[in-house]
Amino acid sequence: MFIATKSVTQSCVLSHEILDLLEVFRKMVNDCIRIGLQNNVTSMKRLCSLSYKQLAKYNVLTYYKLCAISHATGILLNRKKSIKRGREPRMPYARRGLLKSCYGFKIVNGTLKMPIKPGYYYHIALNAYVRQILSDPTLRPRSFTIAANNTVSICYSKEVEKRDYTNIKGIDRNLGNLSVGDTVNVIQYDMSGVVQIGENTRSIMRSVKRNDHRVRKTLCAKYGKRSKNRINAILHRVSKTVVKEAEKQRAAIAFEDIRYIRRLYQRGNGQARGYRAKMHMWPFAEIKRQIEYKAEWDGIPTIQLTARDTRGTSKLCPQCGKKITQVDRKTRQLWCSHCTRWMDRDIVAAMNISMKAGWSRVDHSKGVVYEAMKGNSGRVDPIILRVDAAKLGLRRRLEI
Ligand SMILES: [Zn+2]
Repeated sequence: MFIATKSVTQSCVLSHEILDLLEVFRKMVNDCIRIGLQNNVTSMKRLCSLSYKQLAKYNVLTYYKLCAISHATGILLNRKKSIKRGREPRMPYARRGLLKSCYGFKIVNGTLKMPIKPGYYYHIALNAYVRQILSDPTLRPRSFTIAANNTVSICYSKEVEKRDYTNIKGIDRNLGNLSVGDTVNVIQYDMSGVVQIGENTRSIMRSVKRNDHRVRKTLCAKYGKRSKNRINAILHRVSKTVVKEAEKQRAAIAFEDIRYIRRLYQRGNGQARGYRAKMHMWPFAEIKRQIEYKAEWDGIPTIQLTARDTRGTSKLCPQCGKKITQVDRKTRQLWCSHCTRWMDRDIVAAMNISMKAGWSRVDHSKGVVYEAMKGNSGRVDPIILRVDAAKLGLRRRLEI
């Protein structure tokens, strides 16, 4: 048993007294950050003992003070992590008003009741979608966050039983597609729509000719937001389908580690600007985040392989384990001279990730996971299904 969390967001209209409260919360967070930086503190307990008395000047409920300290601790911890990784982060400072709390609130009859003063509650009406999600009795609301951009989000959790798995699906994330599969089945989701949206947005932004950074900033923010929403819609459809398929086939999901892949596309690496821009818009972390949280919610195990585990996954033949060569870079086809056949680079990678995950973690005597090794008998020929990610929602609607 473990606890899985999710959150849901809606827009709402905030009154002046709430906006004042958000501002007070922001100030408290900034006070705590200042105290934390002065004393070089990143633990919640220590920050609490240092700053609690200094927050006495704010006339708010005690648990909002605790939540402000906890929020500041999170910011300070992130800063420490960035410094450890060798980055020079900016001075942390909360600019926008916000309020978050895990204490004192209630959800009654489709409204969020949050205390402002002792015995005095402020009510925020929840919309039908949020009400429908929270109506599930197994869910427990954990906290709420109100932001100054007129949104309220509620975080909820449930207890999940981890499922057993008899199979592992390897996920190979590529710019133009997402290949998910094992040695028996591979589904390739065509994500060229995502690349297209990114490129269109870039060309729109480049066409803004007004030499005024304020105008450019507003326009780019508008089109950037639009493109992000459209891309996220596709990613959500794909991640949902991937998790559903894994659930159906009682499979775990394995990821390779490509966190530092953007280092390959830095300025001065000899690549064209357009190419680098395209590679920097590739949402490989977002699709992983979505699949991970959706899998966690359904109790599907996920396996994170290290970069060392998956070295050369798209260069080794899944059948004979020998190195295979890519003849033409554009077609992404690989030729294995040992097995004398052509293979798709992305499908090979997905198969190899699945096998590597099985090899390192599962009892492979069960015979469900194949190994990539010399002399593997029997031809490994997966069934390959190609799906257009942009039409996934459409297909579902037609099925209904
Ligand atoms: Zn081979």
